[in-house]
Amino acid sequence: MTARLSSNFDYVAENIEEVRKQIRAAAERSGRDYNDITLMAVTKTFPAEAINAAFKSGITLFGENRVQELLEKLPQLDMTGRSAHLIGHLQTNKVKYIIDKVDMIESLDSLRLAKEIDKQAAKVGKVMDVLVEINIGMEASKSGIPAQQLPEFLDALKEFKNIRVKGLMAIPPFFENKENTRPYFAEMRKLFVDNMAKKSDNIDMTILSMGMSSDFDVAIEEGATLVRVGTKIFGKRNYTGGN
Ligand SMILES: *Cc1c(COP(=O)(O)O)cnc(C)c1O
Repeated sequence: MTARLSSNFDYVAENIEEVRKQIRAAAERSGRDYNDITLMAVTKTFPAEAINAAFKSGITLFGENRVQELLEKLPQLDMTGRSAHLIGHLQTNKVKYIIDKVDMIESLDSLRLAKEIDKQAAKVGKVMDVLVEINIGMEASKSGIPAQQLPEFLDALKEFKNIRVKGLMAIPPFFENKENTRPYFAEMRKLFVDNMAKKSDNIDMTILSMGMSSDFDVAIEEGATLVRVGTKIFGKRNYTGGN
């Protein structure tokens, strides 16, 4: 038998096809160009083989939440032409481990973190792309800055020359009925548009990262340019302790 040679992740290709179909439909419904929407595969808890399977189906971007997990998987991935984003809360003392390993940090949520990213990026001679995470539902359990603080936050980021602000990210509250998430996505879109004009040397906002397995179609209807999908591609996550 050739069990070890054949992929156990054939279902990943089918799932990606289905997600793409739904993205296309949502884009069509809202008069948007399908090509303006990037599909990220969110790979936390899934092995490198699963990520490589997603790459084979044309996925070029994956996201991980935790630094350690990302570092373990990266050497096993075929990264040619692919990108990795960090999407989970990032502790300042871990920035140095991923500064030259990821293409974007989507979870910038404090000036303290910005300062550390700037410092470490300068050390490796890089300008790090970031998204500012907004706590759009003002939930105590979630990271991100309050929406009303964004203009002030962007102003403060101007001094960090080794950071480039590419846009915003949010994880709205979860609802069984995804329609209840729509107002939060709409609010994010407004915040994004209102602050887009704020261009400077290191602020150039083109990315609005919002929408997950349960609601990415609604997010697209409300203007998302990047959707982060885990469960609908890889199946249910099995957390084994920790976190
Ligand atoms: C886990 C995670 C996702 C994906 O969630 P699914 O519901 O599995 O699609 C997206 N964004 C972030 C920040 C996450 O932590």
